[in-house]
Amino acid sequence: MTVVVLLGSPGAGKGTQAPVLSRHLDVPVLASGDLLRTAVAKGTALGREADRYMSRGQLVPDETIVRVFLDRLEQSDARAGAILDGFPRTRVQAEALDAALAEAGRRVDRTIFIDVATEDLVKRMANRRICTANGHVYNLASNPPLVAGVCDIDGSPIVQRPDDEEATVRARMTEQIPPLLEVVDHYRKAGVLQKVDRREPISDVSARVLAAIDSPTVIDVPATFPAG
Ligand code: ADP
Repeated sequence: MTVVVLLGSPGAGKGTQAPVLSRHLDVPVLASGDLLRTAVAKGTALGREADRYMSRGQLVPDETIVRVFLDRLEQSDARAGAILDGFPRTRVQAEALDAALAEAGRRVDRTIFIDVATEDLVKRMANRRICTANGHVYNLASNPPLVAGVCDIDGSPIVQRPDDEEATVRARMTEQIPPLLEVVDHYRKAGVLQKVDRREPISDVSARVLAAIDSPTVIDVPATFPAG
């Protein structure tokens, strides 16, 4: 049983690294943003509620995401473990996750914090595209698809997410970085935090993420992080 939490600001590259970790550990990726976008696309009551927050770059209420995410974590494909991408994003969510795992005799085994400067993030998100079928992630500058506008993996069209437009990106940074740093601190105190610097090519970051996961010891991380 391996539960790995991936942490990073919006656009830090969690969605790119999550599948690498998933293959390495042979456990599924559970991505909160994908769960919410699926609910929005289906037009459920929950989806309509979530959309009001997401389209403004705000976090959806803790109670909502905790319910959706913990339900997903209980499904059978996550019995051997999971890579958590985008959850928890607040201290309240981290505590709810700890409690749910503890009930099942499990815990968060590792947390990988992908640290990126804010100005790099804004630039990167202007170039981010996702495929319409499965949300596979591309970057027009650093990780473009082989054929422009088409997903390498499933052939579906690639598009910009509505919440990746610049004004929304800036709102997301302002809203989401302070609670993120609280979550980072939560896992630092639990002694399960590993930090990876994202100022390197994607393949190097993947190598560092895998090295961090396989390392028997947790690298000590200072208590305060620059927000950007
Ligand atoms: P990114 O990769 O840019 O971080 P995500 O796809 O993870 O974006 O999330 C998109 C949006 O969904 C967030 O901006 C937020 O509104 C909402 N969201 C996702 N996860 C959570 C969460 N754990 N708590 C609250 N809101 C969330």
